[in-house]
Amino acid sequence: MKTIIRGGRVIDPVRDIDGVRDVIIDDDGRLAGVEPAADSPRDVEVIDATGFLVLPGLIDLHVHLREPGFEQKETIATGARAAVAGGFTAVCCMANTNPVNDHVSVTRLILDRAREANLARVYPLGAVTRGLAGEVLAEMGELRDAGCVGFSDDGRCVMVSSVMRNALVYARTFDVPIAVHAIDETLAGRAVMHEGEHSMRLGLSGVPSAAEDFMVARDCVLARHAGARLHVQHVSTKGAVEIIRVAKGYGVRVTAEGTPHHFTLIDEDVGDYDTYFKMAPPLRSAEDREAVIEGLADGTLDAIATDHAPHESLVKDCEFENAANGIIGLETALPLSWDLVRAGRLSVRRCVELLTSGPARAFDLPYGLTKGAPADITIFDPDARYVFTADRIRSLSRNTPFVGRDMVGEVVRTIVGGRTVFTR
Ligand SMILES: [Zn+2]
Ligand SMILES: [Zn+2]
Repeated sequence: MKTIIRGGRVIDPVRDIDGVRDVIIDDDGRLAGVEPAADSPRDVEVIDATGFLVLPGLIDLHVHLREPGFEQKETIATGARAAVAGGFTAVCCMANTNPVNDHVSVTRLILDRAREANLARVYPLGAVTRGLAGEVLAEMGELRDAGCVGFSDDGRCVMVSSVMRNALVYARTFDVPIAVHAIDETLAGRAVMHEGEHSMRLGLSGVPSAAEDFMVARDCVLARHAGARLHVQHVSTKGAVEIIRVAKGYGVRVTAEGTPHHFTLIDEDVGDYDTYFKMAPPLRSAEDREAVIEGLADGTLDAIATDHAPHESLVKDCEFENAANGIIGLETALPLSWDLVRAGRLSVRRCVELLTSGPARAFDLPYGLTKGAPADITIFDPDARYVFTADRIRSLSRNTPFVGRDMVGEVVRTIVGGRTVFTR
């Protein structure tokens, strides 16, 4: 049956659409048109979107789905369920599973499980190096052929510059990006939060901003010489934003992402050793947060990505030093991004770009309200007010510092390939 999404404010930055339109979906799940006011013949399902935003399906370049190997934290099915509840119709999953996604058998398993879950689209990233060990390159060509859209050793930094250089040179032959967790591990050591006044007060060892700035600079230099595509993950420092800005000016083929936690929180939010504020890279200073927001606004950063990192309570409810890094993020990303719009820091259009066309272009993924393409659509109520409670969470894990927070803006329906996969 045909579907018409009626009367919502349709925004597609790429097609320069922003206004009240009807979105028509064919009976085969493809987008048939975006029109000022479509007729509704009989045998049509009408979705009333009056007062809502109707957006191209959101894309998250950075999630950890934890399967295979850590199914107590998240499975591909539960992660996909959280994704669509957060308005994401497509997610890119990192390779730090067990076994690591450095072999086509793992890539195929991920794609099979995603197909069975039949919710969000899942695009795997393959490992850059075997076992994420930073020594021997993975079989990137085979991984690419099996469906990997890029490569990353996320969780680890490829520390040896010659290995990173080879990876970039090799990836250049397929013209796919290498995404980097850019932290110099020799500078970061075993530190557990941002190095600053607050880490001193708490007596915790800190990760200096230089650890990130340095690696971003190194990778930009290597990417420039290789002519390769580099994607900087979870940018957290003012220095990294400035380096990426300069690198783009020099023609380095670099894209980058900012996370909702880095543009919302700072190191002081760690309070008295609250492990739900422990991440890698760590929450930085107010000045760093400001730079990330400016980078999102001015185009230095291309995407908002969640770094959704589910953990069971056992590894979070413990001493700060021993607690696992990371928080879940799929279900809070859109309202937290919307806070930047409400604060006048991002235009509506820029916010939508950062969640749709920006990430899609970084990894060459399909996007937008294109006629004839599978209809992936997110319907968002920008005025809904609520408290984000734990019982709303669809992810298998609940490690988020945002429980109890007042939110504005809520996903009301998510459509993938013309089929409603989530409704509130
Ligand atoms: Zn990372
Ligand atoms: Zn990550």
